[in-house]
Amino acid sequence: MHYDFFAPPQIHFGWDRFQEAGTLAASLGSRALIISGSRSLETNGVLDELKSLLSRAGISSEHIRTISHEPEVTDVDQVTNILQHHTLGAGDFLIGIGGGSGIDLAKACAAMITNRESETVLDYLEGVGQGLQLKAKPLPLMAIPTTAGTGSEATKNAVISSYAPAFKKSLRSPEMIPDIILCDPKLACSVPPEITARTGMDAITQLLESYISCRAQPIPQALSLQGLKLAIPALPQAVADGNSRTGRESMAHAALLSGIALANSGLGMAHGVAPALGTHCRIPHGLACAVMLPSTLKANRSVCETQYADIARHLDPGLSLSDADAADSLIQQIEALNASIDIPATLSELGVTREQIPALVADSRGNSMRGNPREISDDELTGILQDLL
Ligand code: NAD
Repeated sequence: MHYDFFAPPQIHFGWDRFQEAGTLAASLGSRALIISGSRSLETNGVLDELKSLLSRAGISSEHIRTISHEPEVTDVDQVTNILQHHTLGAGDFLIGIGGGSGIDLAKACAAMITNRESETVLDYLEGVGQGLQLKAKPLPLMAIPTTAGTGSEATKNAVISSYAPAFKKSLRSPEMIPDIILCDPKLACSVPPEITARTGMDAITQLLESYISCRAQPIPQALSLQGLKLAIPALPQAVADGNSRTGRESMAHAALLSGIALANSGLGMAHGVAPALGTHCRIPHGLACAVMLPSTLKANRSVCETQYADIARHLDPGLSLSDADAADSLIQQIEALNASIDIPATLSELGVTREQIPALVADSRGNSMRGNPREISDDELTGILQDLL
């Protein structure tokens, strides 16, 4: 056995623990610059509450930006410029509060503010620009997730989009794992059912893909099993009743575990294709993953039957089926889960056309696809996407 395992340095998890935001943040500095990932956090009072919790702990704060879309190169460059004009001092740190979009923007800005070899994040993204590496430690960062999906609070990358030219790439460094994670599942109670469904399926896709990845490792696999056991029954609950404490707690915990798992083990075909569906077809990340997940499981079934059977038996210890039947039952369970929370079964329902397939195939060859347990050729991927129309 041979592996490296990265974990976030501090995780503070629990219902209503948002109230500890100020006391926890005090170890990071004396002035918080806040990046938020949702207008809802402004209208429902969460941002004001955050400022007042910080103030009570003797921390001054400034709200820098709210982003309500998946972050683009221009967002990172603009917000980094704004931050630079704040004459950053020794006690300054960032807080990213929101879904994956807000947290990724905060993670990227925390890194870019201390790495100024280029003024644009483009030059640091994998596979585009000048290929610069992050050298300096990012500004300290506290991540407060408000969706239960990406696990971005626990990963070492930030995903940045561009639409012209179309790409979705990561800014990545082990130093980008947030210093403090404050995960209060109650913050997700205001997430509408449709977004709960698709972000939750992102977490489930991450748990399954990291488990079967060709870079899979024992510790993340144990986390994935725990996450799947929580998430599969909890997601329909959280979609049906946004205030369900069990539903929200289980999903927030599963999403956090999925982030730790993916940061160590990588992902697979669903996450390989999702960025291309995001940039070419404007499909939100979680929804793209959800629709691609059943096909991904089927495409990998020939090399993953034992792993699927192991997962199926972990989910239902009473299952007395052969490996082949248990593996089939897992795939059927995921299809039924998608249907129960109104995730479309086809890409055509999301507006994807046959003409877009060549570009989707060409742009699916990122880091995630390299984790897929078997090689998927362009011809095979073309066939898989055509079958989904
Ligand atoms: P998101 O952050 O874009 O949020 C989705 C929607 O939910 C937005 O409209 C937002 O305004 C709303 N929202 C967020 N919190 C809310 C709340 N508490 N109440 C009401 N509405 C709320 O969606 P996401 O799926 O969390 O993040 C997607 C982004 O994360 C994508 O860019 C994806 O590529 C990226 N991602 C990053 C990682 C990583 O490791 N860094 C992993 C997976 C995905």
